[in-house]
Parts: sequence; C-alpha cells; structure tokens
Amino acid sequence: MALTVLSRGVLIAPFCLALSRFVCYAKESEQQAESAVRIGVIGAGIGGSSCSFYLRQLFGKDAELDVYEAGEIGGRLATVSIGGHVYESGATVIHPKNMYMQRFVRDLGLKHKDRPTTGKKMGFYNGEEFVFIESQWSVVTLAKMFWKYGFDLLKLRKAVGVLIENFSRIYDVHDNGIAYTSVEGILNAMGGREYVNLTKVSLAEVLKEHGYADEFVADMVSIAARVNYGQQTNMSAFAGEVSLAGVQGGLWSVHGGNKQVCSRLLEKSKATLYKSTVSGIKLAKGDKPGYYLIIAEPPDKNGNISAHVAGKYDIIVIATPLHHGKTDLKFKSFPKEITNFPDPFHRTVATYVDGELNFRAFGFDSKEDCPTEILTTRDNKFGINSVAHNYPVDYQKGKTETQKPVWKVFSREPLTDNQLGTLFTSRKETKVVDWLAYPHYDPPDTLSSFELHAGLYYINSVEWAASAMEMVAVGGRNTALLAYNKYHGLNDKIDAKWKPKTEL
Ligand SMILES: Cc1cc2nc3c(=O)[nH]c(=O)nc-3n(C[C@H](O)[C@H](O)[C@H](O)COP(=O)(O)OP(=O)(O)OC[C@H]3O[C@@H](n4cnc5c(N)ncnc54)[C@H](O)[C@@H]3O)c2cc1C
Repeated sequence: MALTVLSRGVLIAPFCLALSRFVCYAKESEQQAESAVRIGVIGAGIGGSSCSFYLRQLFGKDAELDVYEAGEIGGRLATVSIGGHVYESGATVIHPKNMYMQRFVRDLGLKHKDRPTTGKKMGFYNGEEFVFIESQWSVVTLAKMFWKYGFDLLKLRKAVGVLIENFSRIYDVHDNGIAYTSVEGILNAMGGREYVNLTKVSLAEVLKEHGYADEFVADMVSIAARVNYGQQTNMSAFAGEVSLAGVQGGLWSVHGGNKQVCSRLLEKSKATLYKSTVSGIKLAKGDKPGYYLIIAEPPDKNGNISAHVAGKYDIIVIATPLHHGKTDLKFKSFPKEITNFPDPFHRTVATYVDGELNFRAFGFDSKEDCPTEILTTRDNKFGINSVAHNYPVDYQKGKTETQKPVWKVFSREPLTDNQLGTLFTSRKETKVVDWLAYPHYDPPDTLSSFELHAGLYYINSVEWAASAMEMVAVGGRNTALLAYNKYHGLNDKIDAKWKPKTEL
C-alpha cells in the first residue's frame, strides 16, 4: 500500500493520507477488496494497541489493519522530562497479577523496572497530622498497622485477594475464544451478579455493610481512592476495590517507560499507522455495508473546515473515551443516534518538581523524618491528593545516574504559585501535566456495550467498571474476539457461560 508506514514514529500529513487512500482505493482490485477484511482502529493507547495485536492474531496476515492516532502512541501511558531524566506522567503502576501486561512485557522483549528498596517512607496525612508513618523495618510497619487498624487490615487484604483471583478468570475465558458484548458480561464472568452490583453502590457503603471501622475507611481506604483515582470513598465499589489493589505490594512498571508496550504491540500487529485525528464515522450504505472514517482538516486561513474520507472498513474499533471533553466523534447516517456518553471524566493534575519539599510545613524538624510518599486521607490546606518521590523510567539498582527522584504531586486543580511555594522550599524546575484522567465514578455507573452497531466496537466502555492499563487491555482483547466471533458467525463464543474445566 502506497505511502503507508509501520508504527515507528513516522508521521504522515493528513493530506498525504487522503491522497494515498484515494489512490489505493482506486487501484485496489475487486477481488482483494472482497477477500481481506478491512479494520480501522481509532486510538493507539493500550486499548487500541492491544486490540490491534489480538486482531492480527485472530484475522491473520491478510487482514487490512489501519490505526489512527491523533497524538502520541501510548495515550495515557506517557512520560515527562524534568531535571534531565524521564518519568512516567500517566499510568504508572501495574499489579503483579495483571497477566496481560505481564505477558506483553515478556513477549515483547521488555522488562520490569528495578524498584528502589531504600530511602522510601510512606505516611498518611489527614491535613493536620500524620495518622500513620511507615517504619524502615517492614515487620514494625505491619505491627504498627495491625495495632492501629486491627483485623480490618487482614479482612481487606483477603477481600482484595479474592477480587484479584476472580479477575483472573477472564484470562481463561479469553484464551478459550469467548467474548462478551457488554461490560456486564465481563464482570459476570469474573464474579457473577455481585460484581455488576459493585458498580451500582459506593465503596463506603459496601465496606460499612461488611463491618469495617469508620477510622479504617477514612484512612486506609481513602488514600487508595485519592491517590489512584483522585476520588473519595463514595466512588463506585468495583473501581474502588481496584484502587485498593493499586496500593498493594509488588507493583511494577516497565523499564524504559510503560508506553513502549503500546508501540511494540503496534509493531507486532503490523498495522498501518496514520497520525491523524478522526472526526467522524459514517455508515456506508449499499449491498456490503461498512464504515467510512472521516478526517477533518484543520480550518484554512478563512476558517473553512474541509473533511475527507480516510478509508472504508468492514469493522471499526473505537479505542478512546467518547465522553465530554475527550473524543468528540460524529456518527453519521446511523439508523439510531449514537450519542449516549454523558458521564464526565475526572480531572487529575500531575505536577513534577525538581526541588526540596518543605518538610517543616508537614510538622517535621528534619528532612530524614519526613515521609517521601505522603498520601492524604482528605482535602487539606495544600490542595493535594498526594506528594511522593518518583524515580526515572530507566531506574536501575547500582546505577547512581538513574536514581534521581523528583517530587510528583497529584491534585484535583492546578496548584497556584502560592501553594507550590508552601509545599516546596526550592524549585529548580516544575512541569505540569493536566489530565482528564479516568471516569468520575458516581454510582450507579452506566455500563454500556462493546458493540455500538453491527461491526462498530467501543473498547472504553470497560473504563466505567474501572480504569487501569490491565482493565483496558482486557477490553482490547475482548473487543478483538467479539469482532472476530461476530464476523465469522461464531455465536457459541459470544456471551457464553464459562465453566472452567475441573479435574473430575
Ligand atoms: C494520571 C493518571 C494516572 C494513572 N495511573 C494508572 C496506574 O498507575 N495504573 C494503571 O493501570 N492505570 C492508570 N491510569 C489509567 C490508565 O492510564 C488508563 O486506564 C489507560 O491508559 C486507558 O487507555 P486507553 O487506550 O483506553 O485510552 P488512552 O490512553 O486515552 O488512548 C486513547 C488514544 O486515542 C487517541 N485519540 C483520541 N481521539 C482521537 C481521534 N479522534 N482520532 C485519533 N486518535 C484519537 C488519543 O490521542 C490517545 O492516544 C492512570 C491514568 C492517568 C491519566
């Protein structure tokens, strides 16, 4: 195909894209067009790249696979440069039992980043004082935690363990070729109706029902919801439980940066990458219906906007959130309007500071006593959710030049100069990344379908259960399987009840 490139960072101007597509289609023989399935994927974050990878595995080498990306490959898997080093700026930590991310790293020639084992100290700050500070000895930390929170700690650990075990069922389901049309289907396969219901009630309600102490919820549970989703314990229980898994031990990141997973998955998928913003999808009429992807050009000097068709596809996968402030796609000529994405995304601002934290503002006389990971349990005078040391993406034990931490502050709003002046005694460099980060979970959350219309799929429905790299990778594989099963009429592999094989 003329003028197409594989993913390695080569840009194509929208004009060339239009031209190449036009020329391609004019030249394409009737037979080719009939035999090879044409698939267009919008978005090259972990959702779009994992889906493309699995689509190629399923549909084989003849499938025509095009990926459109408006920004950078990786999307919310992104990095920021500060103080001469590179740090994760979006999705950072991965749970050890997240098997898709583990498989990707193993199969794509990547590796886990080393974790600093010394110099880290965690503290829970309630806006006035520290309600808990980690000791340098883990046994002492555990004893202190147990003393303060008692059996709630063990109970919660067990509950999160069960969630993670149940979550793992989806790998078996997918490995057996089964796909679900809805997010409810996936949650059902993991943990039955109970898991669907967890998206309809708040985390605080569920914990209260299970007898957890108010103090435990206000401290331990609150920090997880705030640091992982910038939200409170009134968020939905399923996403809330996922946030609790995100403060467990053994969390890891990819050496060199998480976003490499996306670029390598795209390379493996052998998709053709177009660096273009898709502005709409039009349902093509005729004997063999399909979809047209529409690219809008930037306005010309007179303010006129022109749009052109980038390609015609049998299958389209939308791999970006369609919610307010995120992607605004226009759907044309569909028999039923596709517009139902009202729920808002949550703003989280990540501020990176190469400088000195004002430990006195947190009540300490010496720097050594002050925690390097301050997780807040409630809103506070600093206006922050957390402030913590962050290590470069190429951190390696024994390599001192890779070990420079910077401070990463999470807040709901951008911090003012005054606020930064209170938090830090000196700042050599400051960088701000302002994210519409993940759904604002306000139960009951609406769980929509992965299929918006025959042949038109939407991965990011899955984020309304919980937003995480693994969750979206689950959505990506599920969507690839769903598209394949539907295309080939494999109805017994769609929404099938899954019974794991037993020894008997
Ligand atoms: C600050 C922050 C911290 C987080 N921390 C974690 C964490 O520690 N662990 C974890 O597991 N998860 C974390 N997450 C959540 C995680 O990042 C997301 O769940 C996941 O990355 C979503 O991936 P995606 O591919 O669905 O969407 P995105 O990554 O948003 O990808 C969508 C892509 O589509 C492109 N696009 C949009 N519109 C168009 C268009 N019209 N045409 C073409 N392309 C388009 C975008 O440019 C983007 O690249 C965090 C998120 C944020 C923001």
